[in-house]
Parts: sequence; C-alpha cells; structure tokens
Amino acid sequence: MSSNGLMSEWKLREEMCEVGRRLYAKGFAAANDGNISYRLSEDRVLCTPTRVSKGYMKPDDLCIVDMDGKQISGQRKRSSEILLHLAIMKVRPDVRSCVHCHPPHATAFAVAHEPIPKCTMPEFEVFLGEVAIAPYETPGGQLFADTVIPYAKDTDTILLANHGTITCGPDLMDAYFKTEIIDAYCRILILAKQIGRVNYYSDEKAAELIKLKPSLGIRDVRLEKGLENCDLCGNSLFREGYSDFKPEHQAFIPAKFQHVEPAKTVAPAVDSMEALVKMITDQVMGAMNGQPTSC
Ligand SMILES: [Zn+2]
Repeated sequence: MSSNGLMSEWKLREEMCEVGRRLYAKGFAAANDGNISYRLSEDRVLCTPTRVSKGYMKPDDLCIVDMDGKQISGQRKRSSEILLHLAIMKVRPDVRSCVHCHPPHATAFAVAHEPIPKCTMPEFEVFLGEVAIAPYETPGGQLFADTVIPYAKDTDTILLANHGTITCGPDLMDAYFKTEIIDAYCRILILAKQIGRVNYYSDEKAAELIKLKPSLGIRDVRLEKGLENCDLCGNSLFREGYSDFKPEHQAFIPAKFQHVEPAKTVAPAVDSMEALVKMITDQVMGAMNGQPTSC
C-alpha cells in the first residue's frame, strides 16, 4: 500500500474512533455496546472490536475483516455483529459504512414493534424517509445478519426488533448522522405523545417533500415504485412483501386510520325555556360529576 493509502486508512481509523466517542456520549451505546464498519476495498472492511467501549477506542484497537467476516488483522477480536454490517454491504455496493447501536428512543419503537410514524416532520421525511423494522433474531450469527437483507436494498435505516438500529451510507459520518436523526425523531414523537397529541400532514404534502429528494441527491424507493402506489402517511411500504413480520400501529395511529366521531349538529328538541335550562344544568352537572371542584 502506498504511503497515501496508509495515511487515508489512519484517518479513517481516527474518524471511526470519533464516531464511537459520539455514540457513547449521546447514550446510543452503553458500556461496550454498538459497532461501526467501513469498507476499505472490495474485500477489506475496517471494524470495531468486541468488548471495548466505543467511547474509548484508539485507532490501533480496530480490526480488519474480509467480506465473510474472517479477521485479517488487529490485536483485538472483531465484533460478532460485523456479519450484520457485511450482509448490508453485500446487497448495497454503494454502502461503505454501517453503524449499529441501541439508541434508546428509536430502540423503544423497535421493542414495541411500533412502525415509525410518517407525515409528521419534513426534515425526517427528506433525510430518512421510510424506516423498516426487521424481525428479531438472536444477535451474532448469520441468521441474525440475514434479517436485514430484505429491507437493506430499499432503506438506509433499519430498526432491529427488540434490539436496536443499523444505519448505513457512503461514509462514516453519513451513516452515523442517520442514527442521530432517527433517535432525535423518535424522541420528539414520544414527547409529543406525552403532551397528548400527534398531528399529521397530508399525503399530498408528503409527496411534495419526497419529490425534493432527487435534487438533494437522496434516493427514495417510493419514487421508484410511483408515489401513487405508496401509502405515504399510512402503512409502511415495508409491511408488504418483505417478510411475515408486520409491525402494527398501536401507539401512533396515522390520521387516516383514526376514527373521528361525527359532531352532533342537531340539538335535541326542547319545548320550553325551563326545559332548556334543566337540560343544560343536567349536562353541566353530569360533566362535573367526579371532577375536582374548581378554585
Ligand atoms: Zn446490538
């Protein structure tokens, strides 16, 4: 390898350690959790070691594996979860980097098997778009790695049921930022839900945002399938034909599925002012029944 090649690999190692520090500082990877990868060449992938905190890695701690996960170099043993990263890289030649961790707010959705609601925030729509939830499998082996394959070709952000997230992109920072975005978004949704209300904009407004993506160089599989064929604000594209595992909306019901009682417009007939006063008094007393008295 040329001296330039060595230089750039060292810079990549430093950048991977920086991403690790951010993951740890943001609370996305407790203790020794999480792992990061970067494809150096066709059959060489730089990755983080097992049983080392991502907040305290040094460039020399990192390992290199081949595309089957066999360790090529590094003093420390590579993460067992590298197979998950390699599964994505094999189906996505454009992906150079993956970040896997357990960011609490996004992982809460993964534990609840709650599809990520759409049509609530424009930045999320543009920078992430549809997010899949892959079925649960015991971490570490090839079966676990294979769970993401059906989704990886159509999204850069996948929740792993009962586990965490994996995000990918053309470089380390891009892959890491997608983790930041999904966790920030899930946090806002959980806070809005606690306030008591989540509002949705329309399919038409969602389509306007999605159509902006090509000009920003961001791919969206829904443009390829035809926006008119996608349920932009309702069920995820990833419910159909990807696997038998189909997360259902329970905590966040899209507006179009919310049943709204029609307002009563016809007032009950009352034949005298006295009867009207009694009816209103009864309704007020009924409403106050069981309520604390105002002060
Ligand atoms: Zn994990």
